[in-house]
Amino acid sequence: MSPIVVSEFVHWLAQAKQAAIAHSISLAELDWLLLGVTDLDRLSLKFETYKTRSHIQCEWPIATLQAKWHQRIYNNVPVQYLVGRTPWRQFDLIVSDAVLIPRPETECIIDLVAEVIAKSPELALGHWVDLGTGSGAIAIALADLMPHATIHAIDTSVDALAIAKLNSEQWGNGDRIHFYHGNWFEPIVHLKGKLSGMVSNPPYIPSKAVLVLQPEVTDHEPHLALDGGEDGLDCLRHLVTTATEYLVPSGLWIVEMMMGQMDTVVELLENTGYEQIVRSQDLEGVERFAIGRRSGNPGAVVV
Ligand code: GLN
Repeated sequence: MSPIVVSEFVHWLAQAKQAAIAHSISLAELDWLLLGVTDLDRLSLKFETYKTRSHIQCEWPIATLQAKWHQRIYNNVPVQYLVGRTPWRQFDLIVSDAVLIPRPETECIIDLVAEVIAKSPELALGHWVDLGTGSGAIAIALADLMPHATIHAIDTSVDALAIAKLNSEQWGNGDRIHFYHGNWFEPIVHLKGKLSGMVSNPPYIPSKAVLVLQPEVTDHEPHLALDGGEDGLDCLRHLVTTATEYLVPSGLWIVEMMMGQMDTVVELLENTGYEQIVRSQDLEGVERFAIGRRSGNPGAVVV
């Protein structure tokens, strides 16, 4: 921690606010940065009680703080990458530009899994996979939700896996999550017919659309985690068709997708041997998650 003289901080903060307003960036983001890297809390920021102090403590010297805010304003770097962390569900996760910033809407996928295991508790004892784990958010939340399950987390990016491992270690379930480098199911062929559940937030944005998202996303987040091919559905299709070989009968298949993809995914699930198919919306009312259960009698032996 570096001490910053309060008068210098006050001077910088006034300029930082002005720049934010001029560039239509919410002042909440400035608070987010300061809450992340200084010893200030929400109340002292709101009521400016820090003004009575001589110094505030910051992870960086003031020149770095200034440079980082500059990156937010002029280069559209997401504030989560500047701070290097983001809150997601009850976790505070490390993020870098090697991983997609876990989104609030993705938090719902864990609640949907919780609903399914409440009805089918035997699933919570088995093997679960998070395909395209990125920061490890879903895998970590699954490990937390199902203390007796074995979680397998896969990503094709070595740099993302390094972040996911750090996150799982800091949340104390590093020993319960097995990490693999590779493409979708390829590293876990030994789990064919053994998965109780497959969860994924795969890349699902059409390639051309990836290039015209908000600049924070297009210019800074990994396209590998966003780009789902020409119609955005390449990975979703692969996950539907491949997972049947891997899931136990009645095993859960659940994925996130974007607006407008649900009909195609549900039709594919219906034609590929899934049942109990459910369409689920996010908190904004967008059809965001498809759920299916692999057909077959749960008692049947899988060979
Ligand atoms: N929901 C993310 C976004 O809005 C995309 C995530 C993904 O492609 N899986 O950018």
